[in-house]
Amino acid sequence: MLDYHIHTNMSDDSDTPYTAQAERAIRLGLKEICFTDHHDPDYTDPDFPFLLDFPKYHNMLEEAAERYYKDIIIKRGMELGIQSSCLDKCVDSARNYHYDFIIGSFHMVSGVPVDFKEFYEGKSSLEVQEEYYNYMLECVKEFKDYSVLGHINLVDRYQHLYMPGEPLNPPEVMEIIREVLKIVIYDGKGIEFNTSAFRYRTPVTLPTTEILKMYKELGGEIITLGSDAHTPEYIALNFREAADLIGTLGFRYVCSFTEMQPDFIKVEHL
Ligand SMILES: [Zn+2]
Ligand SMILES: [Zn+2]
Repeated sequence: MLDYHIHTNMSDDSDTPYTAQAERAIRLGLKEICFTDHHDPDYTDPDFPFLLDFPKYHNMLEEAAERYYKDIIIKRGMELGIQSSCLDKCVDSARNYHYDFIIGSFHMVSGVPVDFKEFYEGKSSLEVQEEYYNYMLECVKEFKDYSVLGHINLVDRYQHLYMPGEPLNPPEVMEIIREVLKIVIYDGKGIEFNTSAFRYRTPVTLPTTEILKMYKELGGEIITLGSDAHTPEYIALNFREAADLIGTLGFRYVCSFTEMQPDFIKVEHL
């Protein structure tokens, strides 16, 4: 198994040192992990600026890889928050240092965090979903410096919280998602299966089976597995279920990344 979405205390929302994350992964027998700490240029929540200290971060990545090289492969990653207002900053952040893997995530839409109630107020659920995916669509048309899109349907988690019972991914919205996925595939990028949905008790998986099926039908093959663990107990949690689900849907591989290039690992070998 390999976990391609792990945070450390270099992220504003985690207090876990990299040693605790790496040692948990080794105890679980994982072959490989990728640290993907948050960098969200122009994030508007003053309590969580989500800006990496890049020299410090890359020292940590190097130190971690060297310290544990006999037991586990540790890749250099980042979870980059994409916003249309700061695409230049996103490009600079992705290119200023070497990465093996970059998760492109949408944590904000038009300057409002997707987990804030404010994003949902005064809108129908259809308006919320259309706004979120149209924003993503406009960004992926421009921005190409990522490996996979992170938790593509993150909006479902918070819509479920603020607008319980309202439909998630209605047909009109699936058509916008189709346009996003077509660009992702055309650009040689991928998506992640993010198992945090299991612990957040989100009513759907991230992505949903419908989105996964659509991605597969469109020819998408690049998919990574990520726990989004901010603490050690969540590393690789529910990965068996995740691998079984994507295998059932016809995906033959999950990917690892080196220098931003995917390697394909057979699902049955996980
Ligand atoms: Zn995220
Ligand atoms: Zn994350």
